Amino acid sequence: MKIRENVPISTLTTMRLGGAARYVIEIEEDKDLAEAYKFAEDKKLPTYILGGGSNVIGRDGGFDGVIFVNKLHGIYVIDSDPERIRLCAKSGDLLDDLVEYSVKLWNGESYGYSGIEALSKIPGTVGAAPVQNVGAYGQEIKQTLHSVCVYDCKDNCFKHMMADELDLGYRHSIFNTGDGVGRYFITSVTVELHKNWLKPPFYTSLQAYFDERGTKEFTPQVVRDAVAEIRASKLPDPAEFASAGSFFKNVYIKEEEIPAAEAKGIPVWDGGKIPSGWLIEHAGLNGKEFFGMRVSDKAALVLINESAKSYADLAKARQAVIDAVYEKFGYKLEQEPMELGK
Ligand SMILES: Cc1cc2nc3c(=O)[nH]c(=O)nc-3n(C[C@H](O)[C@H](O)[C@H](O)COP(=O)(O)OP(=O)(O)OC[C@H]3O[C@@H](n4cnc5c(N)ncnc54)[C@H](O)[C@@H]3O)c2cc1C
Repeated sequence: MKIRENVPISTLTTMRLGGAARYVIEIEEDKDLAEAYKFAEDKKLPTYILGGGSNVIGRDGGFDGVIFVNKLHGIYVIDSDPERIRLCAKSGDLLDDLVEYSVKLWNGESYGYSGIEALSKIPGTVGAAPVQNVGAYGQEIKQTLHSVCVYDCKDNCFKHMMADELDLGYRHSIFNTGDGVGRYFITSVTVELHKNWLKPPFYTSLQAYFDERGTKEFTPQVVRDAVAEIRASKLPDPAEFASAGSFFKNVYIKEEEIPAAEAKGIPVWDGGKIPSGWLIEHAGLNGKEFFGMRVSDKAALVLINESAKSYADLAKARQAVIDAVYEKFGYKLEQEPMELGK
């Protein structure tokens, strides 16, 4: 367990903004957790859990508390039968490493188990995946999540929780709502994956990619490679560009509001989902820069930190985008990433 003092949150998060955290503790083993929480309790400081920092934005005033940075590692096969397998990953592993592991495993007939291949290349850790129920290209972690192990800092003990106890929904779980916020440190995640699950048609843009190339044979590796190529052509690589991925959540409207939206030419998917990227693009914001933050010209949902000096700049840019979309379409966008500090 390593303890550091006065660490800029900008160095721990992919948007690269935010003042200093008073303490940062690297959690390297499960047993560090009791000690780390005790450290914060003795100092009467709040705590915050961080994985790769790709869905958290630091505020300028910093965090007068203790950030736990997750360094728990290891992937294990828990059990398997001819049709499925359960894989358990420690929560500090990269989600993409778990996906890669799963698509390369021999399943008795060929390589790869399916269920998480469309989550390829989502930045960040396995432990953060259930927090906002990560999803991409038609898959969500909810569909394959079996269970999680957590350290409950309220009851000071480890617990095992089944997926159906986690209230998983669109960008939602018990970990990011109500009393669950900050209560549980997820230490491992178990997913249940399957053989022979891949059946076209796939998610629209993925299917279009396969149709263009005449692809007819689908393995988890084929889907992973396609997703990786589509993402690389659209989404900024966090190593090169500072961003938090999708900056706004999609808009969900009620059934009775759908005809009015469609009458204005706004696309409505899955019985009420309006893609916020479409709204931003059609408000004419692609490629526009506000206060050092640029709306990506390839994926309008992404705000890239080109030269913003502070969270205050980001807040002004966010408001400019929200106002422009509201003025044009009457929908109020909501931010997806969480915020840390004051
Ligand atoms: C370029 C880019 C593309 C992206 N694409 C997608 C995408 O396609 N789909 C998608 O869903 N997301 C996407 N994201 C968002 C992000 O990658 C995910 O939300 C990811 O799960 C965050 O992982 P992390 O380890 O960085 O979490 P962090 O940002 O460190 O934390 C996110 C939240 O989870 C909590 N948390 C983290 N670890 C734990 C733990 N072990 N126990 C309890 N709570 C924890 C944190 O407190 C915080 O509230 C993208 C981000 C970027 C930068």
